[in-house]
Amino acid sequence: MAETFDHIVIGGGSAGSVATSRLVEHGKCKVLLLEGGHHHRHPLLDMPPGVFKLLSNGSKFFKDHFSVPQPQLNGRKAKIPQGNVLGGGSTVNGQAYVRGRPSDYSEWNDILRGNNDAISWDWPDILPHFKRLEGNKKFNDELHGSDGKLIVSDPGHVDDVARWFVQAVQAQGEPFNPDFNGHKQRGVGYFQFTYDQGQRVSAAYAFLDPLKNNPNLTIRLQSQVQRILIENGRAVGVVYKDKSGSEHTVRTDGEVILSAGALITPKLLMLSGLGPAEHLKSHGIKVVEDLPGVGQNLQDHPDVSVVAKANGPYGYWKQDRGWNMIRNGLEFKLTGRGKITTTGLEAACFINPTDPEAEPTHEAYCIPVMYLNEEQLKTIPEDYGVSIQMVLLKPHSRGDVRLASNNPADMPLINPNFLADPRDMDEMIKGLRYFRKTMDTRPLADKIDKVVAPLDMSDEGLTEHCRNVVKTNFHPAGTAKMGADGDNMAVLDARMRVRGIEGLRICDMSAVPEIPAGNTNAPAMMLGDRCADLVLGDL
Ligand SMILES: Cc1cc2nc3c(=O)[nH]c(=O)nc-3n(C[C@H](O)[C@H](O)[C@H](O)COP(=O)(O)OP(=O)(O)OC[C@H]3O[C@@H](n4cnc5c(N)ncnc54)[C@H](O)[C@@H]3O)c2cc1C
Repeated sequence: MAETFDHIVIGGGSAGSVATSRLVEHGKCKVLLLEGGHHHRHPLLDMPPGVFKLLSNGSKFFKDHFSVPQPQLNGRKAKIPQGNVLGGGSTVNGQAYVRGRPSDYSEWNDILRGNNDAISWDWPDILPHFKRLEGNKKFNDELHGSDGKLIVSDPGHVDDVARWFVQAVQAQGEPFNPDFNGHKQRGVGYFQFTYDQGQRVSAAYAFLDPLKNNPNLTIRLQSQVQRILIENGRAVGVVYKDKSGSEHTVRTDGEVILSAGALITPKLLMLSGLGPAEHLKSHGIKVVEDLPGVGQNLQDHPDVSVVAKANGPYGYWKQDRGWNMIRNGLEFKLTGRGKITTTGLEAACFINPTDPEAEPTHEAYCIPVMYLNEEQLKTIPEDYGVSIQMVLLKPHSRGDVRLASNNPADMPLINPNFLADPRDMDEMIKGLRYFRKTMDTRPLADKIDKVVAPLDMSDEGLTEHCRNVVKTNFHPAGTAKMGADGDNMAVLDARMRVRGIEGLRICDMSAVPEIPAGNTNAPAMMLGDRCADLVLGDL
């Protein structure tokens, strides 16, 4: 007899951890959480900058996906690392706490309304989810919660380079913004982060750790889900492999909630017979439900940097090595402060270089080191420096995720299609010109020896810079989108239910019809919270 649970959650990432905790805590349900990755407690994951040591070193806490060759990126295969650990992206991310803006959710609402039982996705109905989860250490007002488990706080350390950036962008005419999750997104300022006194606050740490002795919660790590079992049109269980490779079947009387992230969720749907019929047949998979939208509509924020060499020993270069590392470690141990309490991305801005008064089109982070993609970085001599890493907030390009084979062990074929839409390249060029000027603007300009990339500021030169440098900002989304009844590419209805199948919902970043204008961890957690409400019948 297979073990049976009230609900089974697949993937304990940002969304899955929140959904699980709500079902256990508020629904008093017996929940099995199957997570493919590892446990989330490790010193380099706990301390904010630690993750950057892991990111480039083939760590077990990351799964490095590679795209199919991207013609727009000179044929490069873009690397897209994703968390392979309890907490998913929230355990390995840069910890910036950004929700997007109210119009993101109004856009979704416009797309989704029209179904008979569609719920509202408009901002006033979404804000309570963010507030409920949030334990903000600074704000407590109509836009922020202070009692939630997700501690959100100011950076533990702000580097001088970050201050110079903030002042330079103000000198370019942007207002100082004290809160990117406040009434206006526009402006320059400092992020808030999902951390508490130098300690990362991942979704696993905030929402699952407090339940570790709760008998209703079973978490199985290193458990790779292979497919969802569907009988008579209803999801009734899951097949997974444990770390020894043994296969197990578990069943549910309630629902299966899929939250394996925007790259793996569509793969698991397809392996379960839910997807574009012809594609499934070409891999010998029996079609359970023809859902042409599965794996389509892949969106991601492309990023590109302007990089300068500093004229002095500013920023974070070499701070993780030798005596610097020891000094920073000691400072943290003795005072709880210092460079170990920041991911290094303290300052940021949201701007529109074409029409400053309109909604921002670009987000940028000030990174107080030289930072480019791995291949391009090798072409620049190591030195003190500063990078302005710019992200396109509402890219027009759409890609897809397809199966490489019917073997669950094979990675899917991922085509983010970065910059395929010419409007995206146009916007990238405008943004690069704006932030190249930031480097020439005081007080930042006073600290810069020379800009090292891009050097050729012509349209052709900037296009080539983008082709060589553009990479993921780690925000894949949209591959099992919610949509209205008439949209045959909609995989989910507005209640996050997989169309045509009973008892199966999706609550990770796959579910979004349009990528939000900002970083995606907080939106993913909001989706998990909302999905739990739907399962519990609270919405
Ligand atoms: C390096 C990096 C930096 C980032 N920086 C920021 C930032 O500063 N701020 C921000 O807001 N966002 C950031 N993000 C993005 C954000 O963290 C993600 O968008 C968010 O975590 C996505 O949540 P999710 O629930 O959709 O998926 P995930 O959190 O990726 O969760 C998916 C989970 O499913 C598990 N899984 C996958 N396959 C299987 C399987 N077959 N069986 C069982 N389990 C499986 C994975 O291990 C993972 O735990 C960053 C992401 C990365 C990778």
